[in-house]
Amino acid sequence: MNDIDKMIADINSEVFYTRKMIGRDSLAKRVIDAMRAVPRDKFVPDNLKPFAFDNGPLSIGHAQTISQPYIVALMTDLLNPDKNDVVLEVGTGSGYQTAVLSCLVKKVYSMEFIEELSEAATARLKSIGYHNIETCTGNGHNGWPEYAPYDGIIVTAAASHIPEALVEQLKPGGRLAIPIGLPGFHQELMVVEKDQKGETQVNSVLDVAFVPLVND
Ligand code: SAH
Repeated sequence: MNDIDKMIADINSEVFYTRKMIGRDSLAKRVIDAMRAVPRDKFVPDNLKPFAFDNGPLSIGHAQTISQPYIVALMTDLLNPDKNDVVLEVGTGSGYQTAVLSCLVKKVYSMEFIEELSEAATARLKSIGYHNIETCTGNGHNGWPEYAPYDGIIVTAAASHIPEALVEQLKPGGRLAIPIGLPGFHQELMVVEKDQKGETQVNSVLDVAFVPLVND
């Protein structure tokens, strides 16, 4: 088994192990295919490359992390991404989740608060050859209104509450996946679904541990 096969097997077994909480015992094949296609080793610092395909988070500097592959796959699956979708990511970090989404949708907008991470991820994504991504350095707490509304919004840092601006920037039928809770305390991955009438429903999916969303 090569490194990527092992990472995919680890994701699949963690999905199965957590099936009662996450309400599914497998993820969409196209999500798994995207996880297989994105070279995670290109998104981690050189000294951590030996661990690039481990099913765990890794440090990317600036006290931030590239998320665990299982969590990236699960959050992607929770958005139910379609090839015609336009999605927003808050928290570009390494750009890994951005790349996974870019394989699955029409356009990904991604915002990162820390300038050095934003610039490094933008250069990395361009050099690997992803063309349907637009990034910016900035605070994503209030979303990116210019390109709203979005079919899906994914937040990869924990907020104390669901930001109203992000819910407003969802299309009818759209979904927001966001970890809610205080750092070091209980956090839950939540999914907000907006129906065709614009009414929202919030579901808790799983206990998680994310870095905090800044300017929350
Ligand atoms: N998706 C990333 C996860 C990075 S960790 C990856 O797979 O690599 C979360 C990121 O969110 C950090 O880089 C952090 O700087 C960023 N972040 C935190 N608060 C933010 C905010 N308000 N706006 C934009 N980015 C934010």
